[in-house]
Amino acid sequence: MIMRKVLFMALIAMAFTAGAQEVICHRGYWDIEGSAQNSIRSLVKADSISAWGSEFDVWMTADGVLVVNHDETYGGVTIETAKWKQLKDMHLKNGELLPTLDQMLECGKQLKTKLILEMKPHTSKSQEKEAARKIVKMVKQKGLEDRIEYITFSYAGMKNLKEMAPEGTPVYYLNGELSPKQLAELGVAGIDYSIGVMRDHPQWIDEAHSLGMKVNVWTVNSDRDMDWCINYGVDFITTNAPERLQQKLAQ
Ligand code: MG
Repeated sequence: MIMRKVLFMALIAMAFTAGAQEVICHRGYWDIEGSAQNSIRSLVKADSISAWGSEFDVWMTADGVLVVNHDETYGGVTIETAKWKQLKDMHLKNGELLPTLDQMLECGKQLKTKLILEMKPHTSKSQEKEAARKIVKMVKQKGLEDRIEYITFSYAGMKNLKEMAPEGTPVYYLNGELSPKQLAELGVAGIDYSIGVMRDHPQWIDEAHSLGMKVNVWTVNSDRDMDWCINYGVDFITTNAPERLQQKLAQ
């Protein structure tokens, strides 16, 4: 009788887990009036539509300032070899100043959306390790440890974040070449792979789930790709069109 009850509860839990599909705004919600990719505004906009999470990219300057930007350069300046004073007066397309991670997290404190922090692969692995250390420390200082998830293309960076962040902090790998089984052995929370990689390896979705891992897919913008992710039971869908995806999920 007890076994039956346990089994029943497990089935209920599985049904709930399988049902939840969440929207993550890729580089924030930027494709909207007054916003820009990786801006403070894009984080506020993501939160304003109750997106589950908002993703942004982080680099560290040569003098140790954590900067939010996608490309390795901004305004012709390479962030990882620059000093912060070379970047601090640069503006984004929406008029905001190029944001630091400090400013992004300060803003995040006022909001509810999850902060999906992508640490960019740095040319110098020692600089990247220092970036990971500073990121984890800042997140702790801001009291955001239960609001953050880390993602990265860097294999070393993934291992560093896993080691430095508190036990249980979700860390996802982006690079696409490792199977869920290989990542499970490293204690990684799940795969966060491109739609192209996932279409080539749809079996990885069930494999990840059977290992207790989550599946996130990016950057899912077309209706066709959104439908594919929804039908395959992907847990998190990262998109530039969050409101269209929300409408689909609500149907
Ligand atoms: Mg990114």
